[in-house]
Amino acid sequence: MERKRAFVTGGERGIGMTDKQIRLGRPVLEARKDSVRLTSDLQMDGLKKLYFEVASDKKDYLASDRLDAFVIMVLRQALLTGSDIYCDAPVTSDLLYMLNESLIPTLVRTIDRFHDVKVHAEPCAPCGGKEVITGYSGGVDSLYTLSRHHGKSTEGDEKANLKLDGVACFDAGVYEETGEARTRMYETALSQTQKIASDLGLDCIGVRCNIQDIVDEHYLSVGSYRLIACAMVISKRVGTFLLSGAYEFSTFSIDVDNSFYYELLLADILTTKTFRVYITGGVQKRIEKIAYLAKQGPEIRRLLHVCVHDPLPGSRNCGVCSKCIRTELAMEGLGVLDLFSEAFPLDVYRQHHDEIVAKANMASRNQHMAEAIGAMKERGFVNSESIERKIRGGKAASAVINAHKEELLKKIKEKGLI
Ligand SMILES: [Zn+2]
Repeated sequence: MERKRAFVTGGERGIGMTDKQIRLGRPVLEARKDSVRLTSDLQMDGLKKLYFEVASDKKDYLASDRLDAFVIMVLRQALLTGSDIYCDAPVTSDLLYMLNESLIPTLVRTIDRFHDVKVHAEPCAPCGGKEVITGYSGGVDSLYTLSRHHGKSTEGDEKANLKLDGVACFDAGVYEETGEARTRMYETALSQTQKIASDLGLDCIGVRCNIQDIVDEHYLSVGSYRLIACAMVISKRVGTFLLSGAYEFSTFSIDVDNSFYYELLLADILTTKTFRVYITGGVQKRIEKIAYLAKQGPEIRRLLHVCVHDPLPGSRNCGVCSKCIRTELAMEGLGVLDLFSEAFPLDVYRQHHDEIVAKANMASRNQHMAEAIGAMKERGFVNSESIERKIRGGKAASAVINAHKEELLKKIKEKGLI
């Protein structure tokens, strides 16, 4: 097929096509006080150091002889800028082959903004450990994976090879904070995840990558790439990564702005003969996972943590942010709200119940919110007179605001409020 290339712009604008390239240097291990970094000199709009960092006692997890994880971290930028990736160290042969032969051509054919590129590297034999891990945030999807895959195998258990050895805490741009604040967020998340893992008899590993400091990409657009790369960099001991599905497989689409919609494709290709990625919970709707969690014991239910105000696993949900509300509505719709009283301050939810339902009903374009509201409607919880009144009131207020938006904005600006 015809190769789409980024057009040269700038002083020499428009005179031809460029052969832009991204270069990844040989990975080097750097010992720090309590941690170790696997770094690669990255030439991409200047020279930067791209690294993955783990605790010193997890050093033997790092696949330090290859650039697999580094390539995945910069792949989307390569596709966007039309830059071939040149590697100064090997890439696992089957991954390299499938990137060039399958993933890149598929993405280029589907996404207009992507350009045809190639990964250049020496192929090497696969490496992969025996351990099974999953990324853990405490949200519905990852808690669903944890609750289905932890515990001892019993005879005849078809999940015997997919029992978790550990959970992972990944930081590759998921937090909005930067600099020291992000470091503190990550360290707190890691220590709280370690406690949760230890209570369940599981190991815990933290992996940090500084890619977000180098390329400021919207997390949804790259999240799936980054999670898989963080798991792949520890493939010396990890052989299976259970990736908690964010959406059902039936909603699959190759969406340039949301990599989670095509994680099925990424999970299929960003693997090697000895490092597999399985998506868990790809069949269930979010609300079905909540129904499953409601049937688990309190040791699992109390772990549910969805809050955007305090996104760290192991913290208490605020009960009033958009994700808390969405989850509480789903739980109420399922008739299981009280089972989660240890995880959510339900008194706040109940106190503002009718306003919350009315607002949610008007904002139900979000897929997961629509599921929650659907469950509430099925149980007749959205039809009370008070809620109807508030919905009508809200719609009327929205109509007034929309009709006089410019005028209102002007007044607000005049008052110095924005
Ligand atoms: Zn919250």
